[in-house]
Amino acid sequence: MKLEIDLGQLWSNVNKMGRDKAKITLEPAPVNTGGSGSPNGSGGSGGPEGDGGGRSRQKHEPAVPIEGGALSEESFKIVEGPGGLLQKDGQQIMMYMPGHYPERFEKALQDGNDGNRMHVAFCIHLEKMKQNGNYDTKYFATQRIDDQFSIHDNKSDRKGHAALKVCKYCLNKLNYDGYAVPGRGKGAIFKDFSFEAFFERYASFFSSHPLREVPRTPQEKGYTKDWAEVSRRYRASRNYCCEECTVDLNDYQYLLHSHHVNANKQDNRNENLRALCIDCHSKQPYHDHMLVSVEDRHLIAQLRQRQNMPAPANWSHVFDLADPGMNGVMHFLQHNHAPIPVVGQDIQDESEAVVATLELAWPTAQLAIAITVEDAVAARQQGWNIFSVEQALATPEHVLGALRQSRFT
Ligand SMILES: [Zn+2]
Ligand SMILES: [Zn+2]
Repeated sequence: MKLEIDLGQLWSNVNKMGRDKAKITLEPAPVNTGGSGSPNGSGGSGGPEGDGGGRSRQKHEPAVPIEGGALSEESFKIVEGPGGLLQKDGQQIMMYMPGHYPERFEKALQDGNDGNRMHVAFCIHLEKMKQNGNYDTKYFATQRIDDQFSIHDNKSDRKGHAALKVCKYCLNKLNYDGYAVPGRGKGAIFKDFSFEAFFERYASFFSSHPLREVPRTPQEKGYTKDWAEVSRRYRASRNYCCEECTVDLNDYQYLLHSHHVNANKQDNRNENLRALCIDCHSKQPYHDHMLVSVEDRHLIAQLRQRQNMPAPANWSHVFDLADPGMNGVMHFLQHNHAPIPVVGQDIQDESEAVVATLELAWPTAQLAIAITVEDAVAARQQGWNIFSVEQALATPEHVLGALRQSRFT
């Protein structure tokens, strides 16, 4: 028997395997540095906020933080994720080129603004790279949120860390904080951008996230020893209703948190506490990092509907109620004077089972924007005209056109 082996092919495969392995995790991403950077999880079991009844919804596989892994040609092609964001293995990532030319490398170490950009969406720049086939081994995936991105000098083996800045094409693509809307102030939006807040905003678009998984005791998070009891007593005194949107969470007490208004977690005076559903809580200043799942947000939206809470009367109310990941879409629609949508519209099938929850919906026009593919598919089967978040951002004129065509809105 004669075996013919193409050694070149074999080596290229071995190299590829080695590279693929290396990109899984090179060093653990220090996502939780210092007291202020503590994740809260969404009602993690035994957490200080929830009812401590172990009603954790962390049913997903623990995620491995992705840090500094070179993207292969194949993974570059499939990084486009929900909402126009970037993903790898179901997790949200950012992408950047760590290699800099010597002079730029020096400058980037001093000021991250002079270095390569961090891509947070599949922007026109990445699109171009993909078309040119100009990506292999150049782009790295990362989830670091501490502004310490590994960079290196292309001409030597010098390495360092730089506080690289976000790509403006990406902000434009996502319409982040209304970046693409005239008069919103591009400069300030760019300047105020935080990677941590960014990951939080879109947390419900991804099923697993490393920030969600790190378990911390109440004391590690800066709470007082008796916080669990203080929080329980306070929420009971408010009849387990959200003090912001008024949703009644008696049957889902783990979705109600006690929030420290002045951000001082040692200050447990009644006047410094507010009972907030996790949706409203995540939209407060000083809310201590929360990654709220799409399931939890939808559950709260359903409860608000069932409890006959009034539909939003203006855009500011829509922003209060909707998933923060819809931010770019909402800024666009508001700017273009779209009719006010319903937030979290339930869709039922013939047997009156809820088959989908639509984030922004115009029921009389049977038109909506959905976050998950499952919601979109189920709603289309019920005759709805559904746009995804990325479709709404990429071709907003189609959404407006459909709304204007409908004589019912
Ligand atoms: Zn970009
Ligand atoms: Zn609320």
